[in-house]
Amino acid sequence: MIAGPTRFDSGQGDPISSASSESWGLEARAVTKTFGTYTALDRISLALKPGELVSILGPSGCGKSTLLRVIAGLDDPDSGEILIDGRKVVGVSPKDRGVAFVFQSYALYPDLSVYDNIAAPLVMRELSFADRLPLIGPQLPGAASRHASIKRRVQDVAALLKIEPYLARKPSQLSGGQRQRVALGRALVREPQLFLLDEPLANLDASLRIHTRSELAILQRRLKTTTVFVTHDQAEAMAISDRIAVMFVGRIRQIATPAELYRNPIDLDVARFMSQPVLNTLAASCIVRGRVLVSGEPMMVHDAHRPGTEGMLGFRPEHARLAARHQPGMLQVRVERTEHAGSEAHVFLRVLTSGDPIVARIDSQELNAWPTDARGYMSVDAAASWFFPKTGARRLAVQNVPAEVA
Ligand code: ATP
Repeated sequence: MIAGPTRFDSGQGDPISSASSESWGLEARAVTKTFGTYTALDRISLALKPGELVSILGPSGCGKSTLLRVIAGLDDPDSGEILIDGRKVVGVSPKDRGVAFVFQSYALYPDLSVYDNIAAPLVMRELSFADRLPLIGPQLPGAASRHASIKRRVQDVAALLKIEPYLARKPSQLSGGQRQRVALGRALVREPQLFLLDEPLANLDASLRIHTRSELAILQRRLKTTTVFVTHDQAEAMAISDRIAVMFVGRIRQIATPAELYRNPIDLDVARFMSQPVLNTLAASCIVRGRVLVSGEPMMVHDAHRPGTEGMLGFRPEHARLAARHQPGMLQVRVERTEHAGSEAHVFLRVLTSGDPIVARIDSQELNAWPTDARGYMSVDAAASWFFPKTGARRLAVQNVPAEVA
């Protein structure tokens, strides 16, 4: 049992508390980190299976980088434990933790070739000062095999990352994506037990970013290296993660698979963070279990709360339905503007009774039926809408939801 468990874990089949520490690739146990009076990490607990890729997702300033730095050993926690493959590492220096990290501002050595950049960690770790001397070094006993071993490993990593043709170039002669791969290569060549990636794709343009993230995910699955990936981009986290830990102000609010997070956000903050372009919210009160009243209209939700509970109905644009005629459970809306988004379109609406803004996503072929100022009716897909009581969290029909949020 991990002390001070994550506030809750709605992931299915991976209860944080049911495995022994030997079976985790990484564990953070009730890790707290303060800067002066500010608590950047507030009793964070997190456990990754060996080979798992978990993204830490959250808004700017929520503590993502601090968590990574504490895991890496660049900062010490005020309290709590970090275990890598079952070994307690607080107090162990970063270079002895078996971790490799790549940051957003991956600093390559500008004067060294790509080969020497990738080889650098091995040269530092495996060659003595004498070994590295240009004239004497190669003459020392065993030096040839040490140099050959480094060369083989650099070439293997370069082949893996498809950067062999650039080994003789300097970083300034590479594209952003190629430089990013060199930075990954320099981390990979150390064969770490744990990979820590802090927004490593942030400097790339949109298409290169999508391409590189899928390469990274394929590579990570081949190498099966336990990986923590920090990002504030929910699409990126959804695309590559086995699980996603959503963080707000120093705490993990929910950790679950991408599908589970999308389907079952625990509270309004998480639902908002996992919705594009926005989460629609309407004030609602429960009338019977599974049914809420919104602007006088009864609407179905799949959440069950006590009658009289006040809160918010939340639903994504893709789960709003537009119709020309009124039926029970529909709200009257007026179109304010529309936006094309390829095969789909966004319709920005105003609920006539309450004045609430709503965004609906429709097939762009249906856009002609909804010009600006058109009036119509909107219903919500009951299976994909949630009722968030004023107290904050939803009731999830899964295990491991501590009493404080149930
Ligand atoms: P971003 O996405 O913008 O990089 P983040 O989630 O990674 O943000 P952190 O860099 O971990 O956030 O910072 C968490 C909080 O701790 C922030 O409020 C930050 O100002 C504060 N903080 C981080 N490092 C220090 C420090 N060395 N001294 C004081 N405060 C710090």
